Amino acid sequence: MGYKRFLPYIIPAGIVFVVLGGLFVYGFLRISALTEQIGSLTTEFASTTATLSQNTGQLAKNLADLRSQTTGLSDTLSSAQQNIDAVKTQVGGVEQTVGSISGTVGTLQKLSKIDPELLKKYSKVYFLNENYTPPHLISMPADYLYKESSSEQFLTEAWPFLKNLFDAAKSNGIALYAESAYRSFAEQQSLKSLYTVIYGAGTANSFAADQGYSEHQLGTTLDFITTGLGGQTEGFENTQAYQWLLANAYRFGFEISYPKGNTHYVYEPWHWRFVGVKFATYLHDNKLNFYDMDQRDIDAYLINIFD
Ligand SMILES: [Zn+2]
Repeated sequence: MGYKRFLPYIIPAGIVFVVLGGLFVYGFLRISALTEQIGSLTTEFASTTATLSQNTGQLAKNLADLRSQTTGLSDTLSSAQQNIDAVKTQVGGVEQTVGSISGTVGTLQKLSKIDPELLKKYSKVYFLNENYTPPHLISMPADYLYKESSSEQFLTEAWPFLKNLFDAAKSNGIALYAESAYRSFAEQQSLKSLYTVIYGAGTANSFAADQGYSEHQLGTTLDFITTGLGGQTEGFENTQAYQWLLANAYRFGFEISYPKGNTHYVYEPWHWRFVGVKFATYLHDNKLNFYDMDQRDIDAYLINIFD
């Protein structure tokens, strides 16, 4: 029997077969278990990824919300700032209005204290009331008078300007004195009567008329004189003192009321009136005469007369 020859191999071969089969089965089971695991891991991974992506989406949305809230806040802030600015502007406007009102009040108060007669033009139709007297008069120190024995008065508020003029002239080597300053209506009238008696009515009217001497009634006008004239104002126009006044008097607020060639009154080089530094400077710089000016334009300088 031939199969007996293979008999000893049957059992080991069976064993091998069984082992191989077992191994195959094991391997198959193992692979399928691993495949299952991979599948479950893949599912898990996919779900995690989905969750993550969902979370990311939520985060992005939150971020966008925050952004829009921030923008909203910044809008609110800027609109609040605008409101504050608007309020500030209104407050500023109110302050300006208050300031301008108080400025106006200040101007009115200042003007109410200044005598409007001080810058009036006087003529045959408009002259000072006979009862007019300056509110304050100061007696000028004798050093400034030509005749030290005489007594001359000047408007108290204008005196510091005149004193400075005299002192400046003196420091420039110019001998300058007051010959006649304030004159009351009565003094003026008697002076005119005197001239009328001496020269006759026609002549007296031409140089001692109301308009000329009424300026003396203000207390801000004076007749200057210098040495070497023998006490007369005649010849004053040829003196150094007159040249000095023409060049400098405006700096102290004085103007010459009746300059050479004026059409209002006789030429009086010695006769000067205080009108304030600002106005006198304006007249001087523009070569204008006080009496050629419009009264309304003159009045604009009243507020600054003592500045
Ligand atoms: Zn005079």
